Amino acid sequence: QCIMVCPVGALHEKENIQDVWNAIDDENKVVIVQTAPAVRVGLGEEFDLGVGERVTGKMVSALRRLGFDNVFDTDFAADLTIMEEGTELLTRVSKGEKLPLMTSCCPGWVKFIEHNYPEMLDHLSTCKSPHQMLGAVIKSHYANVMGIDPKNIYVVSIMPCVAKKFEGEREELSNEGLQDIDAVLTTRELAQMIKEMGINFAKLEEEEFDHPLGESTGAGVIFGATGGVAEAALRTVYEVLAEKDLEQIEYEAVRGLEGVKEASLELPNGQTLNAVIAHGLGNARKVLDSIKSGEKSYDFIEIMACPGGCVNGGGQPIIKAHLRDDVDAKVVRAKGLYSEDKALPIRKSHKNPSIQKLYKDFLGEPNGHLAHELLHTHYVKRNKF
Ligand code: SF4
Repeated sequence: QCIMVCPVGALHEKENIQDVWNAIDDENKVVIVQTAPAVRVGLGEEFDLGVGERVTGKMVSALRRLGFDNVFDTDFAADLTIMEEGTELLTRVSKGEKLPLMTSCCPGWVKFIEHNYPEMLDHLSTCKSPHQMLGAVIKSHYANVMGIDPKNIYVVSIMPCVAKKFEGEREELSNEGLQDIDAVLTTRELAQMIKEMGINFAKLEEEEFDHPLGESTGAGVIFGATGGVAEAALRTVYEVLAEKDLEQIEYEAVRGLEGVKEASLELPNGQTLNAVIAHGLGNARKVLDSIKSGEKSYDFIEIMACPGGCVNGGGQPIIKAHLRDDVDAKVVRAKGLYSEDKALPIRKSHKNPSIQKLYKDFLGEPNGHLAHELLHTHYVKRNKF
């Protein structure tokens, strides 16, 4: 029994390992797993690999050995989020409505604003967070294409995050009576399962995610670091407006560990987009108070509850005591994500061929009727304690 006392849901820690083993053992269930961007640069630490070492291929291989039927990538859904949130941003900017638009992919931040600044809830993007979007797509389009009854699908999200456990249970994050997500495991819980199975993680051969819901771009990967969602959005928004391919897609102004980072971008249509990125809820409070007082004005705000973003989430491995003085895990893990971004052939969400196909075959237009039904949500005012 867990007790909700934390304003961001981060104390909603309950173990779900046995639930997931039970689902894997159930012959009637198709058990599908997805992994958040930050997990691939944290998991190796549980097996004495280097801090921040990228273990994407070994992680996929381990998940197959644990018995999951499909291994998909939340990065695919991060690309989908950019399509939806980028369109939402462009619409709001063109109408001058409900600005600034605030990101909604961090449930710690969403719960914080629901409790503390409910008068600003209209500013939150209505986009579900990426893993919730992927769960919704799996239990609708994917189930249909594969001829599986969605009731028999069990979706597991491997997240660097404890607040995602609470998010997965929110009743708003469901469709036709089915939760988008059935269980959330932290990076540490996944490591525990791998150890329980006696898998020699360090020696595993690298494998690839299943397609099409495992195909992603560099923009999806950088979601795991503070500033990553903003950078991914800027890559797409700018290029869609410019109607041409851009060479320079790295936005240094939104990277790094400064608590509050401001960036102004001249858009091809002549408008200026003012963005701010904050990580840690103390910094979030500063940004919101500066807007309320009229001191600052922005068009786009990215906030992550954890200092450094998801690479430093509450479900990530705890850095070994003897390394703590010398290594800043959030810096090294973020470097791992940016290097994966650089290594990928496609680095902009709207260029992901599987995303393009999903819109063509199923969703229609970004922010269209079906997309709204499946991929968007609403928020509720919650009482202060
Ligand atoms: Fe979870 Fe922290 Fe990432 Fe927010 S920033 S989604 S609370 S890990």
